[in-house]
Amino acid sequence: MARSRQRLSILVALEDDYERERLVEMLGRAVSSVAAAADAATALERFRAESPDVTLVDMNLSDSHGNDPVTLIRREREDAPVIVVYDSYNPRRLLEVVERNVDAFIRSPVDQDRLLTALRRCARNVFLRRRLRQADRDLHRLLDAFPAMALLEKDGRVIYANRPLANYCGYEDHEAMNADGAGPGEYMERLDGTVYEGGDERWIAAVTDDRLDVDHVAHLVNPANPDGLPGVFSVNHSSLPGSGIRLISFHDVSALEDERRHLADEASTDPLTRALNRRSFLRILEECAVRDRTLSLIMFDIDHFKSINDTYGHDVGDSVLREISALVRSDIRRSDFFARWGGEEFMVLLPASDMDRAVEAAERLREAVEASDFTGVPRQITSSFGVAMRRPAESSDEFVKRVDQALYDAKEGGRNQVVVG
Ligand code: GH3
Ligand code: MG
Ligand code: MG
Repeated sequence: MARSRQRLSILVALEDDYERERLVEMLGRAVSSVAAAADAATALERFRAESPDVTLVDMNLSDSHGNDPVTLIRREREDAPVIVVYDSYNPRRLLEVVERNVDAFIRSPVDQDRLLTALRRCARNVFLRRRLRQADRDLHRLLDAFPAMALLEKDGRVIYANRPLANYCGYEDHEAMNADGAGPGEYMERLDGTVYEGGDERWIAAVTDDRLDVDHVAHLVNPANPDGLPGVFSVNHSSLPGSGIRLISFHDVSALEDERRHLADEASTDPLTRALNRRSFLRILEECAVRDRTLSLIMFDIDHFKSINDTYGHDVGDSVLREISALVRSDIRRSDFFARWGGEEFMVLLPASDMDRAVEAAERLREAVEASDFTGVPRQITSSFGVAMRRPAESSDEFVKRVDQALYDAKEGGRNQVVVG
């Protein structure tokens, strides 16, 4: 070490002027940079300014609160290599300092060979750490250039979010996101829209738990549009061998998901009116019947619709069906289900609704149809309504038959009326 100077920076914080100057001069020949301080305050100042690789410190230095020098330095940087220079005049302080996990102890006055040996040992660690830091930086740079969003995770903690992921979350890069105390976990939600409680550990476990070895799908709320649909990502993960670190990557499958939703919509709705089709309505009816004890059904049929077709044409008939559907949709609650049962017959399923409420809803719809103007039809259009509330243990079949009978009675009774089944 003495022959060619090591690329190493040292801070020498010793009270004794003679000893300090001697060591500064000696170290000046061994390493590339030496700074000096004679008291704790200056030592801290210089430590902050120069961030030395190794600090050589007098155990007797302390700040105004009596903190020992190792504590002060480790508070600045947890893993800072520290060599303590001790004497035997202050055994209590020595005991304190010994507990601080110091890299080396050297008795004062400092023996040159001992110091150089201790330094050599510290230097090895410093160089190793430098290499690791460089490897980390390279890995991060590589990840930043990775086109997909990705992160590094260890023990349920995000240790690095790459640039595409940080950008997605509205940040320039990992550092900016970190500085804001933010993390990708805040944007993660389950497919049903619920958020993961309990920090990163929870969602990481959820998206990487693939006993079946299937791809996982996660939602990431888009911060640029928090009220819009979240992005849909397929999540893959792989372990970096021997490190306990996992790489988790996210591939945007939102377009596929849109397509899937679109197809699912197509399969469950009637193309003319966008109301639910009979098949999906029956499925929903079965589901609601299981959990809802006050379930009501409205069935209605447009009066003399055949004559509307015959008089104004089939296209006008079609637009009447569309317009009535829009009317119903705007009138019912969000929790109600509206379906085209067939031809000009429709159903409204009302969860958590008793008979009074359903009759009221049917009456309101009847009045709304009666009062509406329809494109291309210069005369009034009316509809007839049947209403039924599900009886305990009644099958969906019987339930539908009952409301159908009520509708038939409404037709028989002179149309444009609501009849209870
Ligand atoms: P009622 O008052 O007894 O219900 O008389 P109605 O004429 O409405 O009853 P009917 O069942 O005799 O006629 C239903 C008509 O609905 C016959 C059919 O052509 C017409 N229709 C069924 N589906 C469509 C459709 O998608 N578009 C159009 N334009 N008409 C349809
Ligand atoms: Mg009809
Ligand atoms: Mg009919």
